[in-house]
Amino acid sequence: MADIIRLLPDHVANQIAAGEVVQRPASVVKELLENAIDAGASVIQLVLKDAGRTLIQVTDNGTGMSETDARLSFERHATSKIGSAEDLFSIHTLGFRGEALASIASVAQVEVRTRRQSDELGIAILIEGSRFISQTPVNIAPGTTFAIKNLFFNIPARRNFLKNDAVEMRHCIEEFERVVLVHPQIEFSLEHNGKVVFHLPVSSLRHRVVNVFGAALHPRLVPIEQESDIVSVSGFIGKPEFARKTRGEQYFFVNDRYVKMPYLAHAVESAYQELIPEKSYPSYFIYLQVDPASLDVNIHPTKTEVKMIDEGHIYAILKATVRKSLGEFNLMPSLDFDREAIFDIPEPDPDNPPSQPAIRVNPEYNPFTNPNPGQTTSPMTGFSGRTSPAGWEKLFPSRDFERLPNDLPPAGDLLPSEPVVENKVYFSEGSEKPFVQLMGRYLLTTLRNGLLLVDQQRAHERILYERFLSQLQGSQSSSQQLLFPLTFYFQPSDAELLKSLMPELRKIGFDIESAGQNNFAVNGLPAGFRENDAGELLEQLVSDLRQSQGANPESHLIEMAAALARNQAVRNGTLLSAEEIKNIFDSLFACNVPHVSPDGRLTLKMLTADDLDKLLK
Ligand code: ADP
Ligand code: MG
Repeated sequence: MADIIRLLPDHVANQIAAGEVVQRPASVVKELLENAIDAGASVIQLVLKDAGRTLIQVTDNGTGMSETDARLSFERHATSKIGSAEDLFSIHTLGFRGEALASIASVAQVEVRTRRQSDELGIAILIEGSRFISQTPVNIAPGTTFAIKNLFFNIPARRNFLKNDAVEMRHCIEEFERVVLVHPQIEFSLEHNGKVVFHLPVSSLRHRVVNVFGAALHPRLVPIEQESDIVSVSGFIGKPEFARKTRGEQYFFVNDRYVKMPYLAHAVESAYQELIPEKSYPSYFIYLQVDPASLDVNIHPTKTEVKMIDEGHIYAILKATVRKSLGEFNLMPSLDFDREAIFDIPEPDPDNPPSQPAIRVNPEYNPFTNPNPGQTTSPMTGFSGRTSPAGWEKLFPSRDFERLPNDLPPAGDLLPSEPVVENKVYFSEGSEKPFVQLMGRYLLTTLRNGLLLVDQQRAHERILYERFLSQLQGSQSSSQQLLFPLTFYFQPSDAELLKSLMPELRKIGFDIESAGQNNFAVNGLPAGFRENDAGELLEQLVSDLRQSQGANPESHLIEMAAALARNQAVRNGTLLSAEEIKNIFDSLFACNVPHVSPDGRLTLKMLTADDLDKLLK
């Protein structure tokens, strides 16, 4: 019988490797930028077309390559950076395998133009799907340009797998940011479809961070610095009062490479404990230098997670360093054990205002007057009293309607100081039906044949979800114009995403437009939306849609409606008036699917007389 084992041809092996190295345009961006930096460039330009789908081009003024090197650079395991297996562990930068270019060239059309300072002419080489096409001399400035065209042109399945341009562009920008944040000594630019997205001059690290994320960040940054035997820590952390509702600007760099460090992220966040509200996240840009030998590196070119041998110690050092900086910059109340803590009422600190109480009450609001039925009734819940099909109660099996005993406590005024667990009972005028709010969370009313229990937050999410979805699928809604437009800055990757959401936001009633350079102006809000919440809402929306975006358009709208509903729904713990409770009941039963929330949890439960009988057996 004949032998059956064969060696895979090179181009097949390269394509297999490309599966790991080249997942999307952003992976190419990363590899090319890193190569340009390794070549000692001081100016690096990145040009993208169609989020990198059509073109990814990196031009550097680095060392350039000889003719032979340029040809060799596309061979697998061709690298000028390591000579032996030991080098893998001693080198400062992680993950050289000489595989990137070979992999990229196997799944794209690649043109390299390169010239060394010492050569008179440069050369241009064309390669397509690992196949050498041509080589010609060219007259160019010293340095190298790699142009990667039509990524995955020979693997339609991979090409189809790419997400929409907004998503792919966001990934590219993320990779770009991760690189530029480590090299403020290098000038970078990024151009997309002919427009300059970034131009970052040589600067200090602080200014590099600010140039990437916006001038608003400047006053919010506090430097950190700590030298020790096992690690040196430097960088910037955000002041606690600027903590964000979403995990956004959180960066760790180890030995000049961006890495994900969930364990150390915990150290930083725990240093902020008690300084920032729950579910808020500080910004940070933290640079660690460690002995490369202490890195437990799984040598992989796209690896963004590393393990460190001394992680436990580094955790402690990092937490102490962050705490120290927060203390030094007077961002933390210092503990003074000599004074009697009990009389120690702190002065209000203008830099660190106390967080808002969770309960928000409109003192003007009278639950028993509704001057404008059918209009927005409450700025608190932000929903308008759309009326239900008359008599939703009739949907439930009827028996005798039993009145609750009259000796229930009377409804009190809504005061912010009241505990959230207060039970509220209301008897609406002219109606025999009581509305009860239990523990600031469950709504209860009577039915002909029992009790109806509703989870206020889930129910409100369902109501808003259906409303937003129908608005998103319909034509533009009106908005309430603001006296003064609000402007918001978003970091470039988020700005791209937000831009792509603008048509839909307008449908809901956001009068929003681009205001240049990643800024957005909001001139009007949907009826019932609060001006103060607008920024947080947009931030939340972008963060919620980061993952889901790029799915099919229908599920994209669903995600968006769900995200808006989540954001706008009345929270558990918010005390509601009788009118608002009634509105929730009415609107819930006007929904297509009243009984579950958009994320599939039960919104309501009916307790029939039989159920109650069983309970009391
Ligand atoms: P690695 O970076 O792991 O060495 P690559 O496939 O990315 O592998 O690159 C292969 C080789 O091509 C590099 O080792 C380097 O010698 C050369 N090279 C790649 N990009 C450039 C560039 N922009 N300027 C000069 N040389 C480069
Ligand atoms: Mg490389």
